[in-house]
Amino acid sequence: MQYVSTRNKRWRCSASEAIAQGLAPDGGLLTPEVLPKLSPNGLTTMTDMSYQQRAVFVMNSFLEDFTASELSSYANHAYGPGKFDAKEVAPVRAVDDSTYCLELWHGPTCAFKDMALQMLPHLLSASLVKNEEKKTVCILVATSGDTGKAALEGFRDVDKTRILVFYPKDGVSDIQQLQMRTQEGGNVGVCAVVGNFDDAQTGVKRLFSDESLRETLAERGYFFSSANSINWGRILPQVVYYISAYCDLLREGKVQKGEAVNICVPTGNFGNILSAYYAGQMGVPIHKLICASNRNNVLTDFLQTGVYDRNRTFYNTMSPSMDILISSNLERMLFEFTEHDDEEVRGYMEALAQTGRYEVSEPVKKKLERHFAAGCCDDAATQAMIAKMWTERRYLIDTHTAVAFHVLEQYRAGTGDATPTIVVSTASPFKFCDNVLGALGVRELADGTAILNQLAEVTGVPAPAPLAALAGKAVRFDQVVEKDRMVDQVLEMLK
Ligand SMILES: *Cc1c(COP(=O)(O)O)cnc(C)c1O
Repeated sequence: MQYVSTRNKRWRCSASEAIAQGLAPDGGLLTPEVLPKLSPNGLTTMTDMSYQQRAVFVMNSFLEDFTASELSSYANHAYGPGKFDAKEVAPVRAVDDSTYCLELWHGPTCAFKDMALQMLPHLLSASLVKNEEKKTVCILVATSGDTGKAALEGFRDVDKTRILVFYPKDGVSDIQQLQMRTQEGGNVGVCAVVGNFDDAQTGVKRLFSDESLRETLAERGYFFSSANSINWGRILPQVVYYISAYCDLLREGKVQKGEAVNICVPTGNFGNILSAYYAGQMGVPIHKLICASNRNNVLTDFLQTGVYDRNRTFYNTMSPSMDILISSNLERMLFEFTEHDDEEVRGYMEALAQTGRYEVSEPVKKKLERHFAAGCCDDAATQAMIAKMWTERRYLIDTHTAVAFHVLEQYRAGTGDATPTIVVSTASPFKFCDNVLGALGVRELADGTAILNQLAEVTGVPAPAPLAALAGKAVRFDQVVEKDRMVDQVLEMLK
């Protein structure tokens, strides 16, 4: 199977090339030319498999130039017991008779990004070998918090790789910042950027397209690639857990074969919910994808009106991983909904770049309406939902997950839709202790990492081991740069 650019579908490459490149030369996203379908018994076949086996089964159909035994070795490394503290890897927890929570934060950095970023380095290293690349790859990452740490942890000390992470100085939580600044490994670099996530992301995009920087680094034996969710190697591992969750519900008799579910996803860059869409195209029966946003509700407006307009105020919220005004992976969705009309997609993306706004065609609007519902909420509603889940169900959730539960409640009240729903839980509540404690009514917050113990004491829920270990770690990275000086950091790190 071939991969094509969303902006020019005559530009084709293999799966391993798509992963090695990250982005097409025209700026488009590399996307499968055709989506494989599970066989009619595929879901039933998978119900008795382990998570690792399911990952191989699903990924194999997308990655023609990888063997099942290669994938099997990656899956066992990526999702093994040394990395994940739940043997199911992505456990599904029943919240009530028709609501299930898919917990994606049992990995080494306690956020859902681990699901993909534990796998990507294996796919990427192998892709480089398959394409006879001799240079060392330098992964550049712009992060709104969770990606950076998950990428650092995934790539640390992986042979022939360097990783450099830029995060917005005031756009991540204290714990997230500490997680990154204490990162271990000989091939890693971390730097704060003055500005918000979009500044960091735009800065990284500029580095990617800086020809003279590229040449200088090529002379030093490096080339750039991306671990941001535009890389196909990030999206594919995420398709797995949606299929896996449905298999778990089948196995436990919570849904019957063929019965549809809704999936409610706290959304930022649109990668996670896009993966759910792909799982649906492969054969998981999905009624609605419910896209949940915080106060940065550009996607809510888009999915309800067909107009994408980033010309609006940017807010720093309690769910920083969703503080985004440009959701890059939406481009892949548009590619699907225009039936692979690369010219139409290119038009939208050019309008977005020039005016910050575009309006999709009527046929695309119809498809958006058929597949998606959307909603948003502010920080007060987010905290109210954390309190409610804790008092009513003794279930401790983080701020991002709370946005999803709130939007689901809104959606159900507005539509009466009683379809069983999987809510995606994207981070451990211990990554956002201050706002979670605040939601539980605690006024005086402990400093630094002591706040982890405070949340554990208030709730009786233990902090995940990787976060508890932060207390003893030394800060290795404390650089801060202006957004137009990021190039100096790259040159410095790759001396
Ligand atoms: C990255 C992230 C999101 C948003 O996911 P997208 O794939 O960017 O839509 C939501 N919650 C958390 C905790 C995240 O880290």
